[in-house]
Amino acid sequence: MAIPIDVDMHPAPGYAHHECTATRDGDWLVFLCAQCSDYERRLNWRTGETSARNSSPDINHSGRYFAAEFKESFENSN
Ligand SMILES: [Zn+2]
Repeated sequence: MAIPIDVDMHPAPGYAHHECTATRDGDWLVFLCAQCSDYERRLNWRTGETSARNSSPDINHSGRYFAAEFKESFENSN
């Protein structure tokens, strides 16, 4: 059973929503938006540390990474 990990959940109804794609870079999960070329959000699955670049408060970004090797899923939303 996968355990969802919610990160920085701030639902913004009515705001634009962009679905991000997630890739893994070592200990980091990297979320990129196809519509915002300069947007990048990182989540360290080992420490829980997060960082974001060029995150707009008007756009609700979300993405999910399924880490089969950890038997967990990671969810990103801001
Ligand atoms: Zn975007």
